[in-house]
Amino acid sequence: MAAYKAPIRDMQFILHEVMAAENLFAQMPGTVEVTTDLMDAILDSAAQMAEEVLAPLNRSGDEEGCRFDKGEVYTPVGFKEAYRAFAQGGWIGLSGDVQHGGQGMPKMLAVLFEEMIMGANCSFALYPILSAGASLALARHASSELKDEYLPRLYSGEWSATMCLTEPHAGTDLGIIKSRAQPQADGSYRLTGTKIFITGGQQDLTRNIVHLVLAKLPDAPPGPKGISLFLVPRELPSAHGEPAVFNQVTCGSIEHKMGIKASATCVMNFDGARGYLVGELNKGLACMFTMMNYERLSIGLQGIGLSESSYQTAVAYARERLQGLAATGATNPAGPADPIIVHPDVRRMLLSVRADVEAGRALALYVASQLDLAHFHPEPGARARAANLVALLTPVAKAAFSDRGFESCVLAQQVLGGHGYVREWGLEQNVRDARIAQIYEGTNGIQALDLAGRKVVRDREGLLEILATEITAFLAQESSADGLQDFLNPLRDALGGLSTTTLWLKQAAAGNPDEIGAASVPYLRLMVLVLYAYMWARMAKVALAALQNGTGEAYFYDAKLKTGRFFIARVLPGYSALIAEIRGGSAPLMALAADQF
Ligand SMILES: Cc1cc2nc3c(=O)[nH]c(=O)nc-3n(C[C@H](O)[C@H](O)[C@H](O)COP(=O)(O)OP(=O)(O)OC[C@H]3O[C@@H](n4cnc5c(N)ncnc54)[C@H](O)[C@@H]3O)c2cc1C
Repeated sequence: MAAYKAPIRDMQFILHEVMAAENLFAQMPGTVEVTTDLMDAILDSAAQMAEEVLAPLNRSGDEEGCRFDKGEVYTPVGFKEAYRAFAQGGWIGLSGDVQHGGQGMPKMLAVLFEEMIMGANCSFALYPILSAGASLALARHASSELKDEYLPRLYSGEWSATMCLTEPHAGTDLGIIKSRAQPQADGSYRLTGTKIFITGGQQDLTRNIVHLVLAKLPDAPPGPKGISLFLVPRELPSAHGEPAVFNQVTCGSIEHKMGIKASATCVMNFDGARGYLVGELNKGLACMFTMMNYERLSIGLQGIGLSESSYQTAVAYARERLQGLAATGATNPAGPADPIIVHPDVRRMLLSVRADVEAGRALALYVASQLDLAHFHPEPGARARAANLVALLTPVAKAAFSDRGFESCVLAQQVLGGHGYVREWGLEQNVRDARIAQIYEGTNGIQALDLAGRKVVRDREGLLEILATEITAFLAQESSADGLQDFLNPLRDALGGLSTTTLWLKQAAAGNPDEIGAASVPYLRLMVLVLYAYMWARMAKVALAALQNGTGEAYFYDAKLKTGRFFIARVLPGYSALIAEIRGGSAPLMALAADQF
């Protein structure tokens, strides 16, 4: 495995040049102090943390895995020390609430940081990322007493947090959870139930673990409208300085699984554990969505980070491995054969990964910029527009980055032939580690249903129109830009295809509700191609301008343009097949009777 290197220059290109982050931050009182120099300093320290502290533990963590013994869970050797360094660096509270000890940095920086730590060691990254997501939910929905008590300790890393949704019989369908919360005379609750697959449910990195648990009151309405959210600490902190006492929360076992082996996946038992309500009764799912939406973007970044790391190894290998001769004539006549990077099919694999990682990173920063606008912008109208874009794009980003991330890891593995399949090069670990991102935080099938159903067919806010209007305005503004038409014309066609297919889907769904589920996954993929084409057009615009103005980095910008042209010529045309698949409708899917499968 090539040692992971944070792709700082590529990140700066999107952050500073494509998204013009400093101009954006200068417009908002909460971010004016975030200058280019500050952003670069943060990226440099983040890279150091990822490369020097986390990456060296990636392989050993996978080999050793977590260990369960008598209710305790032990993380692999080195994780505790790494966690301490991570916490001391202030990374957990990077974009946390300043009033409670967070650093209040914009999401655009947090996204790049999370990509780095996911690429360096995604098992490790999951522990602090869950704390950051839970802190966001508490900062938005918890009482001031809970915030004062818990947030500073979560941001400092002294304590960590989990999200406890899944039960043995209830994963996607949280409306049928069985965990119960019994109100107590002092205003607290007693929680009883079993949660499974809880990431970081038990570990030895922090003394206390704060569980955010979904449960129902005995008289709650049935279904999702009866779910409430509770904070249930492993140790109940004492208000008067006496030693804290253990709550009735125990870990029953940990899972043995395909990947992310150094991330503890726990069965958690709540046996009358004391908990505190977060947000309003029966509105727990909405509060939990604050955390889940944060985690969804982070889990998407798992796909991008692992793709980047896989790409680095695959390129290094393709330059060195000598097999066969270039079809146009040997390039290495002194050696026994040419490096495999000369072969068009090897280039297809490398470029597919690279074009995807770069467009995905740009889209992640675009979504993060909308999160920053939704949070920091002084005007309510601007905040609302950005929040609508976030609602539309969060399921797209989670599913796209993790699906394409997994495919990219497999493609990079393929570049190494049989050497990719054996452990030595580390790509088989990346494939195993990337796979889960397609499943947890809501499967990608469910993300696609959310997009096609709630965010498009049943949408009343005009979410897709906001995006389409923005892309159309970009196309109009750049209509006479020199050299950019190779990007703009295909983008215009693909956007047109998305618009007509959306109309078709709305009409079809009005006559048959199965049409949404039948179309959802290819519909999401279609939208991803349009979004990636938009990102590539924006990147190409910057690269062309830099080349036209004369730059010391012609090599860098030229590579951007060539990678973007590969995407437009070889990846984007796939949108026509997706449209045909969608228009194939639900009938072929529903024709087979269940007992004919
Ligand atoms: C390693 C790991 C870590 C995890 N970490 C956490 C955690 O920290 N906290 C937590 O609460 N959970 C966690 N999970 C659970 C994870 O979020 C769930 O596994 C996931 O949401 C899917 O639920 P399920 O496994 O019950 O599958 P099911 O809900 O049973 O789904 C099975 C299949 O049916 C499909 N399906 C289900 N319903 C529908 C529908 N209405 N329409 C169309 N298709 C449908 C799904 O897409 C899926 O393909 C973790 C899981 C794993 C494996």
